[in-house]
Amino acid sequence: MDFATALRAILRQDPDVILLGEVRDAETAQVAFSAAMTGHLVFSTMHTNSTVETLARLYDLGLKPTVIASALEAVISQRLVRRICPRCRESVAPSDDQLRMLGPVFSDAPPQFCHGRGCPDCNGTGYAGRLPICEIFPPTPIRPAPRYFPGFVFSTGSSSRRAHSEKEPS
Ligand SMILES: [Zn+2]
Repeated sequence: MDFATALRAILRQDPDVILLGEVRDAETAQVAFSAAMTGHLVFSTMHTNSTVETLARLYDLGLKPTVIASALEAVISQRLVRRICPRCRESVAPSDDQLRMLGPVFSDAPPQFCHGRGCPDCNGTGYAGRLPICEIFPPTPIRPAPRYFPGFVFSTGSSSRRAHSEKEPS
């Protein structure tokens, strides 16, 4: 019994929520999206470099764009970073290079910079545990592009301008 066969057997039980370990091949992706399109809430993981690249990966696995668009509710990417040890955490002044890397938004009011001094609790590393940094990508419907209507001008409050525009040849 392979992974996709097991997943089909699970779907016969008609669960409300399915937690799928990983979408790694075309058959699993097809079954997972079929389940999502038939009223099941499916959670799963994929290995990609960013949230947006998940769409390309799903497409690469053979899913049709219409299927992806109709069944995908959100993509959350996660990157784990080391957490500064709370026991030996202390403030430090950022260097000019660090401020330059943050960009102009933080030039006037730089955020507080901290580091772990190192203590017995963190074995002198200055770090204890990890934190997730998440990016959430909720696909949204594509809005139709604005259409150009010859002779039509969006109202600016000037009746003479509207009247002039209506006379322009189309
Ligand atoms: Zn420490």
